[in-house]
This record gives sequence, structure tokens and C-alpha cells, in this order.
Amino acid sequence: MKYTEDNLLPLSYLSQYYYCPRRAALLLIERLWSDNIHTMSGTIIHQRVDKARQEKRSDLIRLTSLPVRSLELGLFGVADSVEFFADQDGYKIENLKGRWEVVPVEYKHGRVRDELEYEVQLSGQAICLEEMLGITIHRGYIYYAGDRRRKEVQVASKLRQLVEQGARALREMLATGNIPPVTVSSKCRECSLGDDCFPLSSPQGRAAKKRKVKTSAARYIKSIWDDIESGEEL
Ligand code: SF4
Repeated sequence: MKYTEDNLLPLSYLSQYYYCPRRAALLLIERLWSDNIHTMSGTIIHQRVDKARQEKRSDLIRLTSLPVRSLELGLFGVADSVEFFADQDGYKIENLKGRWEVVPVEYKHGRVRDELEYEVQLSGQAICLEEMLGITIHRGYIYYAGDRRRKEVQVASKLRQLVEQGARALREMLATGNIPPVTVSSKCRECSLGDDCFPLSSPQGRAAKKRKVKTSAARYIKSIWDDIESGEEL
């Protein structure tokens, strides 16, 4: 094992890194955080899930807010939900009778969409669970509250590589203090760190501000209401 319990980085930074490496560095090194409508919406969804509880049936056990960690990767976090499906080809799990397939579930706000950073974060949780339980995990789900739908993600070798690369890159950022340069993209429009990332007096800052103002507030508000109205059926 490469790392110790007191030397772990939050898994969620993997997601930040694959959204934008500069954003991850600003959060990790500069300790910047700024809420915007997207981060607030995400917080509302997680507050619903973050009440640790268990559901137990003969063929399904669901644990919410389960702490996970990997001493190999040097990462820790909280899995929104971990589901254990009864499966005769599955694994023996300590303190449980029978055999089980273990499947992590990550909750996100908004509509079903393809976001690599979420898939990497989910795969990071799967790798943590594998290390903790001595099993292999083949799939996970991302639940989108706006649609009340789950998207299945195969925890394939490509995603596993990205988890390892991302964890290494975060360590390097922390060790060197190097913050990647600004890369202006469509992501800047929805990034809560826009104002901290580049000064508004700069051409990039003025462009980002303009894009933000143009963005329809009604669309964002609707997406939050969709999430809120999705209620407890997570
Ligand atoms: S504003 Fe753009 S470049 Fe800056 S941290 Fe956010 S996404 Fe990255």
C-alpha cells in the first residue's frame, strides 16, 4: 500500500480534474470554492442522499453514504449509495450470507448526459470498494435526479487508467504547486470559479462574463426545480 489513512485526497477531485485540470488545481492548491447554480443544485441532491441509511431485502441491500478509500490510489470519499444484488456468481461479503454483486451508484443533478468526469469518479469509488472488500466490480450507475433515471457505466480498463492517471496528476499538482494555464472552453460558462480563474479585466474574463449573462437563468432554475421535484425517489 502506497498511502496511509491520513494522507488521502478526496475522490471528488478526480471529477474536478477531468472537468478542468486548472479548476482542480485552484481547488486543491488555492483552496478556492465558489458556489454557482450548478454546484448548489448538486449540493441539494447530495443532501438528500447523505443521510446514512440501509435498506435490506433478501435479494438487495442498499447502503447510502458509505465511506470508501483506496490506500493504493491515495483517495477517499463517500459513495452516495452502494447496492448489493444477490448473485450466485457473485462474491462472499463479510457478515452477509450468500453471494453478492456490488454496484456503486453516484447521484447527480440534471438530465441524463455523458460526462467523463462523473464516470471516472464512479470508477474511483468502484476501485476503492474493490480494495476494501477484495472483490471485482464490473459496473456502476449514475442516477440523474432531473430525469429520475440511471445510466449504467461499465468500470472498464480505460476508466480505471483514467482514475490512476488523475490520482497521480492531483498528487503532482499538490507536490509542485503548479496550476495549469487557463484553457477557455464552453465549460468556463458553467464553472463556478470563473471570476477567480481569470480576472474580469482580461479578454478571457470579459468573454466569460458575457457568456454567463447570456445564459438563460430560466433554464437553470427549471433544472433545479426538476431535481427538487424528483423528491425521495432516488
Ligand atoms: S473558468 Fe474555465 S479554465 Fe477556469 S477553472 Fe473554470 S473551466 Fe477551468
